[in-house]
Amino acid sequence: MHKIGVIPGDGIGPEVVREARKVLDVICERKGIQLDFEEFPLGAAHYLKTGEVLSDETISRLEEKESILLGAMGDPRVSPGVLEKGVLLRLRFHFDQYVNLRPVKLFQGVPAALAGDRKIDMHFIRENTEDFYVGLGSRVRTGSSREQLKLIRETYEVKFDIGIDLKDTDELAYQIGIITRQGARRVIDYAFDLAKKKGADLVTSVDKANVLTEVYGLWREEVEKASSSYGIEKEFQYVDAVALHMVRNPERFKVLVTPNLFGDILTDLGAALQGGLGFAPSGNINPSGVSMFEPVHGSAPDIAGKGLANPVGAILSSALMLDTLGYKDAAHEMESAVMSVLSDGKHRTADVGGKMSTTAMGDAVLNALKSQ
Ligand code: ATP
Repeated sequence: MHKIGVIPGDGIGPEVVREARKVLDVICERKGIQLDFEEFPLGAAHYLKTGEVLSDETISRLEEKESILLGAMGDPRVSPGVLEKGVLLRLRFHFDQYVNLRPVKLFQGVPAALAGDRKIDMHFIRENTEDFYVGLGSRVRTGSSREQLKLIRETYEVKFDIGIDLKDTDELAYQIGIITRQGARRVIDYAFDLAKKKGADLVTSVDKANVLTEVYGLWREEVEKASSSYGIEKEFQYVDAVALHMVRNPERFKVLVTPNLFGDILTDLGAALQGGLGFAPSGNINPSGVSMFEPVHGSAPDIAGKGLANPVGAILSSALMLDTLGYKDAAHEMESAVMSVLSDGKHRTADVGGKMSTTAMGDAVLNALKSQ
């Protein structure tokens, strides 16, 4: 019995999670998988009613779960960031979900961003806790802290020779990226392990080690080590080259491992390549802790409650959850059902120019699954 916490959340979250649950119920019954769901009413409605974003008590109840299935967080009635940071980011950090797994697969029948018959099937493994997102930085202004600015000017000019003339600067901001050896190693190992499981013979490491030499120099050392210990080839690519290749020749990529910031940007490009936000699944994974699966899209308040949301990203996220729990066959069958529904090009929700409702799309996947 696997304990699963469900957070439908805001906007289109509850609508897409409902469809994912429908499909999960059928596949689990067929495969004898026992999932014990508990819903958590987090999000804007809960916050506006109680003033509480995420209590310690809720966190400790979530600690008892094996996985969390989440819809979306965010609502125009609540200041931006309150729910996203207060729930999503807090859970990611609390559970140390250091792997952000983003499969990018273009299904036949989905209108593609790129011309031609493209076979896009890659996995991004994005580091989820470090890099330039550690919140280390500051602003220094002349007026408020002349001494501090003087110190910074002297430090940079004298000690580091950064090549920027700070003499006439009255304000500056800086942000520091951190990569720890342990933090790099664990996510890079996860990537090589995934490559092994998928039978991939190459892992592409993304960085900008020619300019950001310290952080990504250390990152590369760990890629070298993992490559030899797993016996899988590696290649180092600069982030700008990866962006170029993703558009010109995405077929060349299978498994990519990337630091946090570059992964954030490239995976949205990936979502575009797979048909848009509505198709993109994700997992925030702690291989020895509580993982959280969610569609890549947000709450999409513009279409919330109208039955227009594409539930495919949420359905594929729940398949990713089953896969991570060890049920490869079940995950594969769910994905095949999605694939067969999309393949005729007629089953389309509004985001890709179709007329199908959220429920009708969920039902179509359900029927395809039943007839497999
Ligand atoms: P949030 O602040 O929660 O991130 P947002 O509206 O800024 O919400 P997204 O929810 O990611 O950002 O969506 C951006 C746009 O993409 C939406 O306005 C919506 O039109 C479209 N969209 C996103 N997800 C879906 C989906 N599953 N189905 C259909 N359209 C979607």
